[in-house]
Amino acid sequence: MKYSAIQNYINGRFVPSSTTQTLNVISPLDGSFLSTVPLSAAKDLDDAVKAAEAAFPAWSKTPIKERVQVFFRYKTLLEKNLKELAELCSEENGKTYGESVAEIEKCIELTEFATSLPQLITGELLEVSKGVECRTEHVPLGVVASIVPFNFPSMVPNWTIPNAIALGNCMIIKPSEKVPLSCGRLAELLKEAGLPDGVFNVVHGGVDMVNAICDHPKIEAVSFVGSTKVAKIVYQRSTQNLKRCLALGGAKNHLMVLPDAIPDMTAQNVAASMSGCAGQRCMAASAMVGVGAIDHIVAKICDEALKIVPGQNLGAVIDAASQERIESYITQAEKDGAKILVDGRNTKVAGKEKGTYVGPTVIDFVTPDMSVAREEIFGPVISIIRTNTVDEALAIENKNPYGNAASVFTQNGGMARYIIDKASAGMIGVNVGVPVPREPFSFGGWNESKFGVGDITGKSSIEFWTKLKKSTVKWNAEAGVNWMS
Ligand code: NAD
Repeated sequence: MKYSAIQNYINGRFVPSSTTQTLNVISPLDGSFLSTVPLSAAKDLDDAVKAAEAAFPAWSKTPIKERVQVFFRYKTLLEKNLKELAELCSEENGKTYGESVAEIEKCIELTEFATSLPQLITGELLEVSKGVECRTEHVPLGVVASIVPFNFPSMVPNWTIPNAIALGNCMIIKPSEKVPLSCGRLAELLKEAGLPDGVFNVVHGGVDMVNAICDHPKIEAVSFVGSTKVAKIVYQRSTQNLKRCLALGGAKNHLMVLPDAIPDMTAQNVAASMSGCAGQRCMAASAMVGVGAIDHIVAKICDEALKIVPGQNLGAVIDAASQERIESYITQAEKDGAKILVDGRNTKVAGKEKGTYVGPTVIDFVTPDMSVAREEIFGPVISIIRTNTVDEALAIENKNPYGNAASVFTQNGGMARYIIDKASAGMIGVNVGVPVPREPFSFGGWNESKFGVGDITGKSSIEFWTKLKKSTVKWNAEAGVNWMS
């Protein structure tokens, strides 16, 4: 075991879980045994909630200009420790070192945004009638929780940590049991940055812990990022318990490629979008809808896919179950009559035989009813569906139940605008394979890719992590006349 057994982080200290139940943490890169993660119990959550509750009065009363000083220092610490954080991210998640560096750089950008929050939450004040003023202020909620998935061990936690805490809340995070190491390191950096004990807590666990969070009476708000199946459960359970909830789910992102698309640029973008982070991104291209004559672009996509080498510029998928699931989708597509142009099944990386890899896969002549066209695969696989018109392509995109992202590749500005208007997704790209909005623009999908109001990052997060206080004030000058007047 490379690291010592993982513990919860409560009230500024690493503490053992009250249970003895653990899971092994295995590196997808080579199958090596990294650590064990506890499946904590409701009592552990309760301890974390108590610590957060105790820290809340002082933290929430600390002026925001002071609170964000912690995040200026945290940003510097992320920069200083970038290499180590990136290595840890690759080790537990399986992505390439370069992808992990990009992930930590994104954490830095997210933190940078949080340091600008004092400029964004100034509230409003207006004299609404003679001598009467109305004023609004953003007030923190209290103890809040963040439940995160395996595919971005540092970035998704940092979607919520800097904003929620800078806005005055105290947080409990539940990392994915598949990648539990990075959050512990983030806790250490937050402490080093001067965050008071109890403001940030980490409780490890699985399904039972998620349910305990949704049920805990002292947790005011729950943010969730993960699959749609679980997002629905978490949204329903926490709102049933009268909590505020924002639950981001899975995705099936469609790239629409028009015949006038620039072939090299389009092929590079499609290949990078479907294979980056081994296809384990909620913004990854999963289906490509080609309109009209696009054979020349498909040929270039295959050329690009063949340049992607597992173990070199393509990381591992999270575990053997995931590898099996992805491969079974490819096999099913073949059985259904699609054509496998580039086949990533049965991939082994020399010297890392226990790693879980799937090579880049290009499947052509997929029809909209096939499972590869309908379901989230979460692997480096692109399914190409052929259509004759843009409206047919849009109908396919619109029919899919998800709505995280969609992109169009074209040189025709009018057509691009038409697709921006008609695509049913929260984030749209034009000649961009992974249309993640950058700060201060917020991140969030539509349809079954998100449940709840607003987005998780950027300015939108202010509404989620705070409640608005409205005061109406009237000073009667005459009544107050005295010797000081
Ligand atoms: P997941 O839904 O399996 O797990 C997410 C979290 O929920 C984990 O912390 C896990 O412990 C917990 N969990 C798992 N099953 C549960 C259950 N039955 N009841 C309660 N809690 C449960 O997701 P994952 O496999 O870790 O991550 C991949 C998924 O996340 C993909 O679907 C991907 O699209 C999605 N994702 C979405 C976004 C987005 O912004 N929309 C971002 C990243 C990942």
